[in-house]
Amino acid sequence: MYPSSFEYYSPQDVEAAVDLLVEHSEEDVELMAGGHSLLPAMKSGLSNPDVIIDVEDVDSLYGIDHGDESSTVGAMTTYATVADDDVLGRKTIVSEAAAEIGDMQIRNAGTVGGNIAHADPAADLPAAVLVSDATIHARGRDGERTIPATDFFEMMFTTALAEDEVLTRIEIPHLEQESAAAYIKKESPSSGYALVGVAAVLETDGETITDARIAANGAFDHAMRLGPTEDVLTGEPIDADLAEQAAAHATDDVESYMLMEDTNASAEFRSHLLEVYTARAIETAVSRLG
Ligand SMILES: Cc1cc2nc3c(=O)[nH]c(=O)nc-3n(C[C@H](O)[C@H](O)[C@H](O)COP(=O)(O)OP(=O)(O)OC[C@H]3O[C@@H](n4cnc5c(N)ncnc54)[C@H](O)[C@@H]3O)c2cc1C
Repeated sequence: MYPSSFEYYSPQDVEAAVDLLVEHSEEDVELMAGGHSLLPAMKSGLSNPDVIIDVEDVDSLYGIDHGDESSTVGAMTTYATVADDDVLGRKTIVSEAAAEIGDMQIRNAGTVGGNIAHADPAADLPAAVLVSDATIHARGRDGERTIPATDFFEMMFTTALAEDEVLTRIEIPHLEQESAAAYIKKESPSSGYALVGVAAVLETDGETITDARIAANGAFDHAMRLGPTEDVLTGEPIDADLAEQAAAHATDDVESYMLMEDTNASAEFRSHLLEVYTARAIETAVSRLG
């Protein structure tokens, strides 16, 4: 199916992109990054924007900067770049999640900012961003602001970004010493998206889990931290045997309407998968603590 016609703009900087968002705020306007969610939605008739603002030529949105305590990833950085980055691979969990996305074509075109801003419940990066305690940077008509990842994902395809805002970069704190992380995914056999994906970060003092951050995508209408599971782990000795006990609480805080249900998997099956993959993510993180 051919998409309906639209106006197309290709701004050269973020300010010009924001000006265009403001100028066309009365119309159905979409930013385009890698285009790998937007274009399929347009071709299938699910999305019919009047205006497309393509940010491909905005150089400031590309690249990765490494600091001593965190790394900052530009919104237009592709999954492949993130998956291949040595520092992100050693010091964060986002590379492992990025490497799990789709196939090579998707990873060479899809962008970190597009993945996060689109907030597809079955996308892989949101859980990794949540357990990383990342900070999302956005620029709109009132200037720049930051949004903690824990406040960013609100509902299916809905985030804390305002309509006139461009997500510019994501700041990802490095893992502490004596901590470990894992991202484990059960992919949909048809699309490769996450039926369930679980990210886990365990911070320790060498003997005890001092902080556990566990989050899931795929299972719910938006990516979420699994608070009750985290509570079971925090303060306990490092022990893989705790994983199943903690994972049994994965849905304790969740209303039943939030569980995803579609032709790939019923809510009941997803709930089961969530427990299994939560336990595996915790066990993998524990094994990486050595
Ligand atoms: C066959 C196939 C398989 C896939 N498998 C997976 C998978 O396994 N895991 C996974 O996570 N994803 C998967 N995807 C989705 C893919 O990762 C998309 O690339 C991603 O969802 C959107 O990123 P994008 O850069 O392509 O954004 P686009 O499609 O260009 O944009 C998506 C939306 O985000 C908004 N947006 C984009 N960038 C910004 C920004 N900087 N600021 C504000 N808003 C912005 C746009 O306005 C648009 O509404 C798959 C896609 C396809 C086609």
